[in-house]
Amino acid sequence: MIRLVLLGGPGSGKGTQADILKQKYQLVKLSTGDLLRKETEKNTDLGKEARSYMDKGELVPDAVMIGILRKITAGFESKGQGYILDGFPRTVPQAEALLKMLEKQDVELSMALLIDVPEEELVRRLTSRWTCRECSATVSFPDGKPEDAKCPKCGGELYQREDDKEATILKRLNVYKENTAPLIGFFRERGLLERVDGNAVPGTVSERIQDLFEKKGIK
Ligand code: AMP
Repeated sequence: MIRLVLLGGPGSGKGTQADILKQKYQLVKLSTGDLLRKETEKNTDLGKEARSYMDKGELVPDAVMIGILRKITAGFESKGQGYILDGFPRTVPQAEALLKMLEKQDVELSMALLIDVPEEELVRRLTSRWTCRECSATVSFPDGKPEDAKCPKCGGELYQREDDKEATILKRLNVYKENTAPLIGFFRERGLLERVDGNAVPGTVSERIQDLFEKKGIK
């Protein structure tokens, strides 16, 4: 069973690659960002709490996130369903909690895959990114969004995430460097880190990932 963590800065293509991988390897994707956005739209207690952090580009507290993850992955494990974590872990305490949880379940993480993209490219991508309100797909409009543009996947309405606006993007990149980038060393020390060059179009990055999977014997 595949248990995969995707690492990379905001805008590195984790969500897009997770969508490709989930089709190819029959996995489910758990995107903690998508999950929290759905909760904020429904205005649940969790959503209300999360929004105050998300709109500012800050991280939701570890205890909240770890609780969510534990509940959902236990469900995957009981069904023998392989999964991809997109956006979790975001901090070293979250990573420690994840490995501890897997150890308790007597299972192992397949790998933590870093999608490596230079910072200037992340900023360029995020400022031109629009998100589908229906299916969460993202679309890039480097020259501005045409007024009547709709989601190419489902025809849904496109919107710009509150945290994809310029001031918040800089904050998120700083949060990434401070809290999330240390995870690269964390997983490397444990022999779990793999890296792909993510500075290319999605199809090319996806081929690189599939080559890596083949090399590692992941099917
Ligand atoms: P994302 O869609 O992955 O870019 O996540 C959007 C926002 O959701 C982040 O900027 C955080 O505020 C929050 N978030 C998502 N995943 C986590 C996590 N694992 N830990 C803390 N906050 C998170």
